[in-house]
Amino acid sequence: MERRRDPLTGQWRVFAGHRQDRTFLPPPDQCPLCPTRPGGLVTEIHKPSFDIAVFDNRFPSLVASPPPPSVAGTDLYAVAPAAGACEVVVYSDDHEATFAGLGRERTRLVIDTWAERYTALGARPEVAYVFIFENKGEEIGVTLSHPHGQIYGYPEIPPIPRLELEAAAAAGRCVLCDVVAAEVADDQRAVTGNDSFVAFVPFAPRFPYEVHIASRVHRPSLVDLDDGERDDLAGVLETVTRTYDLLWGFSLPYVMAVHQAPTDGGDWSAASHLHVEFTPIHRSATKLKYLAGSELGAGAFISDVAPEQAAAELRARRP
Ligand SMILES: [Zn+2]
Ligand SMILES: [Zn+2]
Repeated sequence: MERRRDPLTGQWRVFAGHRQDRTFLPPPDQCPLCPTRPGGLVTEIHKPSFDIAVFDNRFPSLVASPPPPSVAGTDLYAVAPAAGACEVVVYSDDHEATFAGLGRERTRLVIDTWAERYTALGARPEVAYVFIFENKGEEIGVTLSHPHGQIYGYPEIPPIPRLELEAAAAAGRCVLCDVVAAEVADDQRAVTGNDSFVAFVPFAPRFPYEVHIASRVHRPSLVDLDDGERDDLAGVLETVTRTYDLLWGFSLPYVMAVHQAPTDGGDWSAASHLHVEFTPIHRSATKLKYLAGSELGAGAFISDVAPEQAAAELRARRP
């Protein structure tokens, strides 16, 4: 396992061959994320019941003490050990639950867990960026259906958050603060909101039903949220995920990504503005948006749904 840098784009990529053998969609009675019930399968969680469980991914792509790379680097081809962290956050001991159905209290507990892991992993010298995310649904490539998310500790700032931070640096101010003000002033792309957070379809999303959740007030990371703001984040996360499930009447697959301040020792407090990005890959009830020539070959996303139309459809389905 190792990281290699693509010399054409400067992007680092991770190679972890052993992951090909990882557990793939086991039957419910073989689920490694279920509690260990008396007389039953011994799972990752050695307790008969639990609220939330966090542990190291058994098939990590990044680890605290990585082996040396399998190839030697050159000036052209930079190679580095796959240093970092991969954790699993199990949201519930109920195999059939989903994030949308956790309820306000448990969602708040998930947020507190994220904040705690952000601090703990961010303090490690090899972790420059703590990335909290969830892959949901078989269409997204989920290998275990039990409700869970993941946390990666990357040894550098990954490409998409880096682009956002570079945009703020180029503007000399927090761009997301401007975006939040614009979306509040003109609510045609609004999905939901409360005292502390707004949720909206972005002005120029990559995927048709993308929704971003951002704090109304500039907050660099989860640990900067006070008690009330954390409750409000739980509320808006619950509404957005329930809205997704009501949109077409089935549990909508998505990627959920939390963007917050890097932990590389730099001062990101002005440039980084906490937000959560939801990326569902459906473009209608029956069709997925596949990445094709323009998206994969050129990196230019093309959508056939107007963001204002997507927002109106989502608002109409809000619980
Ligand atoms: Zn399970
Ligand atoms: Zn801001």
